[in-house]
Amino acid sequence: MEKNQECIIKIEDMSHEGEGVGRVDGYALFVKDTVIGDVVRVKVIKTKKTYGYARLVEVLTPSPNRVEPRCPIARQCGGCNLQELAYPQQLEFKRRIIENNIRRIGGLTDVSVEKIIGMDNPYFYRNKAQFPVGTDKDGNIRIGFYAGRTHSIIETERCYIGAPVNEPIIKAVREYMQENNIAAYNEQTRTGVVRHILIRCGFTTEEVMVCLVINQKKLPAPEKLVEKLKAIELNVQNPDNWHISSIMVNVNMENTNVILGTACTTLWGNSYIEDYIGDIKYRISPMSFYQVNPRQTVKLYQTALDFAGLTGNETVWDLYCGIGTISLFLAKQAKKVYGVEIVPQAIEDAIVNAGLNGIDNAEFFVGKAEEVLPDFYQKETARLGKKLTADVIVVDPPRKGCDESLLATMVQMEPKRIVYVSCDSATLARDLKYLCGEGYKVEKCIGCDMFAQGVHVETVALLTQK
Ligand code: SAH
Repeated sequence: MEKNQECIIKIEDMSHEGEGVGRVDGYALFVKDTVIGDVVRVKVIKTKKTYGYARLVEVLTPSPNRVEPRCPIARQCGGCNLQELAYPQQLEFKRRIIENNIRRIGGLTDVSVEKIIGMDNPYFYRNKAQFPVGTDKDGNIRIGFYAGRTHSIIETERCYIGAPVNEPIIKAVREYMQENNIAAYNEQTRTGVVRHILIRCGFTTEEVMVCLVINQKKLPAPEKLVEKLKAIELNVQNPDNWHISSIMVNVNMENTNVILGTACTTLWGNSYIEDYIGDIKYRISPMSFYQVNPRQTVKLYQTALDFAGLTGNETVWDLYCGIGTISLFLAKQAKKVYGVEIVPQAIEDAIVNAGLNGIDNAEFFVGKAEEVLPDFYQKETARLGKKLTADVIVVDPPRKGCDESLLATMVQMEPKRIVYVSCDSATLARDLKYLCGEGYKVEKCIGCDMFAQGVHVETVALLTQK
C-alpha cells in the first residue's frame, strides 16, 4: 500500500475510535466516516508497517446500518464519530467494546455485558457546550467546533447534541463582539479577547449559565453583553421557561489548550446554576465536574444505587465523588456515606448540596482517593483495635482508573459489594482483573449511553465477594 493509492474495500470491523476497518490482502486500513457493512472506495493517506489510514472517497454499497447524519458538518467536525451508524447499532458497538475489553484485558472470559441503556432521543442532550471563538482569513468572527485533530474552527451555531438554547446565545455573543469591536482570541499571536463561550444549563430547572472565557483581566463593555443576553428569547418550546440566570467571565491568559482559567467573576445573576437529578438538587459552578447528559445520568446513578443493594444500615464510600452527585443519591438509603474527591471546590459544592437536600449522613474529604482511604483505614483500624470495614464501596474514577494501592485498601475493607462506575472500559477491565484476583467476582456489568453519536460509553459493574 502506498500513499494516494485508491482501492475498494468492504468495512468489516470498527475501531474503538469509531473508524471503519477494512483489509486489502490482510493489510488493515482505518477509514473515518464508514460503518461495518459498507463497500467503499478509499484513498490511502498514511501507511505504517501493518496498517494504514485512508479517506473515504465514495460509498459504493451502503451498509444496511448506515444512516444520513442529521448534522450537516458531521464529517468535518471532530466530535460525534458515530453519526453515520444507526442508533441501535451504536449501542451494540459500545456493548461489544466493553465486553471485548473485559475479556481481553481483564481476562474474564465468562463475563457478559448486558444490553446498553440507550437514550429515547439521542440528540440535543448535552447540558454543557464549549464553543471555541476565532477569526477566519477575512477577519470574520468564527464560532463553532474544532475540525478533527486540528484547531481550525468550523462555523456552526447549531450542534445536534447540544442544547437548543445554545443557538440564540451564540448569535447574541457574536453581535456583542461585532458591535463593540471585540476581537476573538488568536492562538498563534496570543492576542484578542474572547477564547471560548461556555454554556451550561439545568434541564430540569431550565436555568442557563453563559460564561465567556477571555484572554485579559476584564471584559470590555460588559453591560452590553448583559443587555444582549437578557434581550434574547430562549423559550424554544412553550410552555418551557428556559432563562439565563448567570452571566460570568472566566480569565484564561495562559498559552494552553485547557479551556478554563482559574478565576471566575459574575457579571450578572448567580455564580452557579442549579439542577436536579432524580429528586436531588445540585448546585453547579462553572469549574465543577457535572455529568453532561442529565437524562441518562439519572439512569446511570439509579443503576449504581440498585447495584449497591442498600437497606438503610450500610456504611458506604463514594470515591472520586465530584460535587457529591452519587454520594447524595446513596445517602438517602444508607446509614452513612463518605465521599472523597481531589478538587477542593467540588467538595465545597458537595457540602452545599448535602445541605440543600437536608442530607446529614454524608461526610466529605478532599484529597486523592489513593491517599485518603488508606490513611483513614490505618488510623481507624488502630483506633478501634480491629479492622475497619465498609459495606459498599462505589468508585467513579477518571479515565486512568484506580491506583492499585487504592484497590488494595478497598479489598482490605472487605465490602460485600463494590460498584465500579467507569468512563473507560479498558482501565475498568484492568482493575476488575485485580479485584477478581483478590476474592471478588463480577456479578453484573452494563453500559449506559451518556454520549450518543460519539464513541464514549459509561459502564457500571457490580462485584461481590466470591
Ligand atoms: N462521581 C462524580 C464525579 C466523577 S468524575 C459524578 O458522577 O459527577 C471523576 C472525579 O474524580 C472528578 O471529579 C475528578 O476531579 C476526581 N479525581 C480525579 N483524580 C482523583 C483522585 N486521585 N482522587 C480523588 N478524586 C479524583
